[in-house]
Amino acid sequence: MRDDVYDVVVIGGGIVGASILRKLSEYRLKLLLIEKQPDVCEGASKANSGIVHTGFDAKPGTVEAECLRLSRGLWPKLIERLKIPYVECGAVMVAVSDEERSIIEETYLPSAAANGVACEWIGREELLERNPAVTPRAIGGLSIPGEALIDPFGATRSFAEIAAMNGAEVSLGSGVARIEANDDALLIALENGREVATRYAVNAAGLWADEIAGMIGDDSFALTPRKGQFVLTEEAVPVSQIVLPVPTKTSKGILLSPVVFGGYLLGPTAEDQEEKWDRSTTAEGMEAVLAGCEKLVPSARSYASVRQFAGVRAVCSEGDFVIRPSAVDARLVHAAGIRSTGVSASPGIAELVSAQLERAGLALESKPEAELRTDMPELFGEDNTTEAGEIVCLCRSITRGEIANALCRPVAAATIDAVKRRTGALLGECQGNGCIPKIMDLVAEHTAVRAGQPPLKGLQGSYLAFDCGSEGGTLHEG
Ligand SMILES: Cc1cc2nc3c(=O)[nH]c(=O)nc-3n(C[C@H](O)[C@H](O)[C@H](O)COP(=O)(O)OP(=O)(O)OC[C@H]3O[C@@H](n4cnc5c(N)ncnc54)[C@H](O)[C@@H]3O)c2cc1C
Repeated sequence: MRDDVYDVVVIGGGIVGASILRKLSEYRLKLLLIEKQPDVCEGASKANSGIVHTGFDAKPGTVEAECLRLSRGLWPKLIERLKIPYVECGAVMVAVSDEERSIIEETYLPSAAANGVACEWIGREELLERNPAVTPRAIGGLSIPGEALIDPFGATRSFAEIAAMNGAEVSLGSGVARIEANDDALLIALENGREVATRYAVNAAGLWADEIAGMIGDDSFALTPRKGQFVLTEEAVPVSQIVLPVPTKTSKGILLSPVVFGGYLLGPTAEDQEEKWDRSTTAEGMEAVLAGCEKLVPSARSYASVRQFAGVRAVCSEGDFVIRPSAVDARLVHAAGIRSTGVSASPGIAELVSAQLERAGLALESKPEAELRTDMPELFGEDNTTEAGEIVCLCRSITRGEIANALCRPVAAATIDAVKRRTGALLGECQGNGCIPKIMDLVAEHTAVRAGQPPLKGLQGSYLAFDCGSEGGTLHEG
C-alpha cells in the first residue's frame, strides 16, 4: 500500500465529524477530515438550540439513548480541557393541564428513570420562583437539572483544533464528489480534483450522508430535511432555565432558552421541506415561534428580535442514529441520521464509531501521553507587535491581536464569516460597517503569507510580526 494512504478519512466537518476526528487523533493514525464548506460547523451544527440534552426523553434501548448516556460521562472533562463555553442551568418541562401532567408522569419520568437521568416533578411555586416569566397557568413541571447550554461552534472548532494539534489534517472548501472502492483502499475524489486514498472512511456528512452512502451503492437509509426557525432576543427575560413545553409527536416543541453568551432563544419550528440547504426564515415561521412561545412565556411577543435564523434537521428513514459499517463495504462507517441531539451526543457517537472501526479491522494504538495534546491553549502564535492592542472592531472592542489569533489557529479562519465566529467581531451594533475593510485586509494578508507570497502592498509590518509558527493544521482547498 502507498505511504500517502490515510488510515481514516472523516467526511463532514460538523460537530459529529469533528468529535470523531478528535477521538481518533488519540491513536497513531494518519487522519484527514474533508469538509465541503470553507469552515467547520457550517451545517446543522451551527444553527440549533445549543442545549446539551441529558437524554431524559430518549427512547430507551436506541442508539441515540446509548450515545447520550456515554456523552454524559464524557462532557465534563472535554469542557474543561477544550475550554468549551458551557452553563449547567437545568431545564423545566412546563405542564399547563392535568393531561400534560399525566404525559410527564406516564412517559417522561419513566423514560428518564430508564435512561438513568435524574428528574423530578416540581410544584407551581418552585417553577415560577426560578422562572417568573412562565405562564401563571402552569400547574408544575418536570425539573431536569442536568440540562445545559453550550456553544456548538466553539465545541466543533475545539474538537477539530485539538485533533489538528495531534496531527490530523483538516481540508476545507471542497466536498467529496465520488468514492471508488478497490481491494486496497477507498479512493475519494474531491470536487476540486484532489484524490485521496484511505483504508477506512467515516460518513459524517449530516443531511448529505445518504448521498455519501449512495456513492458506494448503499441505499439502506434516506434523509429528509426538517427546518427549525429561531428568534433571538437580547432583552432580559426573567427565566433562569431552559423552558420546555410537553413535546408533540414531530418535535420537542417550541422552547425558550437562555443562550450561553447572553440573550435568549425562542424556537424552533419543525417544517418538513424539499431542499436540504434551504435555511430561509419567513414571517410565518416567526409567527409560529411567537405563538408557540407565548403559551409558555406570555410576554414572548413583546421581546424585540435581534435576529431570526434557521437550522435544518436530518430526519432519518430508520428513526434512530445510523452508526454502523456499510453493508456494501465495511470500510465506510456511517455516523448518520443524527437528527435532534447531535450536539449533545457527539462525544458518545465518537466512541461508538471508533469501536466500529476497530471491529472492522483498524488497529487503535494509543499515542503515549507525552505525544498527545489534550488541553486547548488560549493563544496561537506570538504577538510581538505594538499594534496588537489596536481595536479593529469598535463595537465589540476586538483587537488586531485577537483577529490575528483567529487567523493563526490550528483550524484557521479563512473567511470574514470565520473571523466573526471565532472573535465576535462584526456582531456589534454597526454589523461590520466600520471594521470589514480592515478584517478583509488581515484575512488577505494572512492567506497570502501562508501561501508563501509577499505581503500585500501597504500591509507590511505589524501583522507580519505575528508569527503563526507551525501549529496551523488547516489546508484550504478553495
Ligand atoms: C433547529 C434545530 C435545533 C437543534 N437543537 C439541538 C440542541 O439543542 N441540542 C443538540 O444536541 N442538538 C440539536 N440539534 C441537532 C444538531 O444540531 C445536529 O444533530 C448536529 O448538528 C448534527 O451534526 P452533524 O455533524 O451530523 O451534521 P452537520 O453539522 O450538518 O455537518 C455535516 C457536514 O457535512 C458537510 N458535507 C456535506 N456533504 C459533504 C461532502 N460531499 N463532502 C464533504 N463534506 C460534506 C456539510 O457541509 C456539513 O458541514 C438541533 C438541530 C436543529 C436543526
